[in-house]
Amino acid sequence: MVCDKQFFELAELTDLQDGCLDLRVDMIKTEKLVDVKCHFSGFVMAPCDRCLLPVNIPMEFEDRLIVKLVPTVEEGDNEDDDIWVMDENTYELDIFHFVYECIRLAMPLRIVHADDENGHSTCDPAVLAKLKELSADSAKQDHDPRWDALKNLKLDS
Ligand SMILES: [Zn+2]
Repeated sequence: MVCDKQFFELAELTDLQDGCLDLRVDMIKTEKLVDVKCHFSGFVMAPCDRCLLPVNIPMEFEDRLIVKLVPTVEEGDNEDDDIWVMDENTYELDIFHFVYECIRLAMPLRIVHADDENGHSTCDPAVLAKLKELSADSAKQDHDPRWDALKNLKLDS
């Protein structure tokens, strides 16, 4: 199975603009348990927090889901996210939601273009210039003359 743009759209993973994750599923079924191991490898594309251009995020991780098969499912049985409880007679394994959660949790909290070898940001230069301008403006505001006056007062007393 491959999780690509179509999957991200279907899963409403709206942060992900594109990508291609190979998904290998190893499933071991015993009488009372189904052990599902998912191995993801590939990359996703998501907008940069700084300049909004897509960032290529390599991904390689494994996740595991245990499905417990029981004669009857009791209310509250499915409170644990890592263990699903299902009726042993009627269970149908739909791992779509699980796969979606895995990818969502594997996303880095901060998505930003990496710096190049010289320590320079590889973000969109136009956006960087704009950000620089904005921070220069706020730096100016730090030097509010009224504050300077107050500072001098303090020194005088
Ligand atoms: Zn960027």
